[in-house]
Amino acid sequence: MKKNFKNKHRMLESFGYEFLVACPNCNSKSKVISLGEHSPHSTGITKRFVCLNCGMTNDIRFNQSIISYSSKWNEGIINIGGSFDWYFGYPLYLQIPCCGQTLWAYNLEHLEYLKNYVQAELREDHPYYLSVESRLPLWMKSAKNRDAVLKAISKLEKKANEN
Ligand SMILES: [Zn+2]
Repeated sequence: MKKNFKNKHRMLESFGYEFLVACPNCNSKSKVISLGEHSPHSTGITKRFVCLNCGMTNDIRFNQSIISYSSKWNEGIINIGGSFDWYFGYPLYLQIPCCGQTLWAYNLEHLEYLKNYVQAELREDHPYYLSVESRLPLWMKSAKNRDAVLKAISKLEKKANEN
């Protein structure tokens, strides 16, 4: 039976309530969260990094919401779209080489969303232009890469659920 992925019109921004990151001190699974509204457009909200393994914490607050959608990190602003959290630029915990590229997700819900998309054999033709699926790189949408991408996603699921 063919699966159908109904566009859910989820924007990448909607997954930014929690980032699983690799702690810059001990490399363990740790988190970046918002103490308040998680939209990158809301200013004056503390973003907090917490590592439960080594106890490292870090706070940052942006009083202006200057956002870059480049996949490269720019210091001092909010960066959306690369394999790091938006505020500190710590590397995402859920990232893995795949098809010569890097597959990444902010958190488990984001990973599930990608999985549902890639698993579906039938897709709507015109995804909402700001949605996650419309912004996915072509290599992730390609049918010939589907098995490799799903394998990488399942490895990340295992990694996310360890410890
Ligand atoms: Zn740590």
